[in-house]
Amino acid sequence: MPDIVLDNVSKSFTKQTHAVENLSLTIPDGSFTTLLGPSGCGKTTTLRMIAGLDLPTAGEITIGGTVVFSEKSGAFVHPSKRNLGLVFQSYALWPHLTVKENIIFGLEINSVDKTEVRARLEKVATALRLDSLLDRYTNELSGGQQQRVAIARVLIMEPSVLLLDEPLSNLDATLRMEMRAELKRLHRETGATIIYVTHDQLEALTMSTHIALLSAGELQQFAAPLEIYEKPTNQFAADFLGSPRINFVTASLTSDSLVWGGLKIALPGPGNVNAPQEVLLGLRAEELRLDRVAQKDALVGRILTVLPTGADWFYQVEVAGQVLTIRHNDSVPFSYDDSVYVQPRPSSLKVFDDLGRAIL
Ligand code: ADP
Ligand code: MG
Repeated sequence: MPDIVLDNVSKSFTKQTHAVENLSLTIPDGSFTTLLGPSGCGKTTTLRMIAGLDLPTAGEITIGGTVVFSEKSGAFVHPSKRNLGLVFQSYALWPHLTVKENIIFGLEINSVDKTEVRARLEKVATALRLDSLLDRYTNELSGGQQQRVAIARVLIMEPSVLLLDEPLSNLDATLRMEMRAELKRLHRETGATIIYVTHDQLEALTMSTHIALLSAGELQQFAAPLEIYEKPTNQFAADFLGSPRINFVTASLTSDSLVWGGLKIALPGPGNVNAPQEVLLGLRAEELRLDRVAQKDALVGRILTVLPTGADWFYQVEVAGQVLTIRHNDSVPFSYDDSVYVQPRPSSLKVFDDLGRAIL
């Protein structure tokens, strides 16, 4: 099965605007790669170019060593010849057909023989837990069941790559959680390459082996989910991943330390940085520690809001002239207006210059 390589791919729908700009990306064979970013950043366009439904205005796309599009050479492989399966947000099942008929539809129009159809149907129905639903009409199914039929219908064609464009966005929160787990299991069991589009950072974090983070048509970072979470290459990446959102505080960078609100944070090693300079330090909610009693190397803060979520306690804390979101789980929760001591405990230093680029 194939790596998918995008080499300097651009797409403009109009002269002035770029939907996708100079995108270079190697999607590894067998990966669960998510195209993540806010609405309008070019995710669907990228997926459609891989599928062959949109033509890039520049660049080259290779699937498993075969050039399927090249602006230079004029190469173009028709979508139906790319061995890709596509599932979109609206899954358009046939209402007058049963689940089984919907799933095998594509095989029948391709005149695949009956024994083969039966064998494949059994396999996908088991994988997607549809065995007991095969004789139902699709309008008798829940949203999640319909979604599984839509995926089964594509999987039965045995594509080497599965392209999914926000397939869970029509489902309610509980079903979305369940389907995330299902898709992850499906990926593990089939070994297919999955390219998944979502604007939901939590979905991307929980499901993907790789995330391509896009903003305004440009690639911001391509890495494993936790690597982006812990080592974002820029302020946008730090801000987009993680819930609650990361805190940014202004700090001064010297040659060997960061100074935030009078507090000194030592740098891990001699950095090759321009010092001194004003920077933004990113601190995630779990990277700040709260204490009732005075600590050295702590800033004084005050609890403004208490936000219990059941498993976790989040606090909005006023500290060094800013309001920060801090996670703290202790047997005795803090209360509104409590005085607290706040210590930064960053697991990785996320420091950004005035252009938002990660430094250190
Ligand atoms: P996403 O899927 O990330 O929300 P899209 O890839 O759909 O974003 O769109 C990227 C940009 O390209 C947007 O600015 C969108 O308005 C524009 N765009 C997408 N499709 C078309 C089209 N068919 N004609 C003109 N502009 C389009
Ligand atoms: Mg889209």
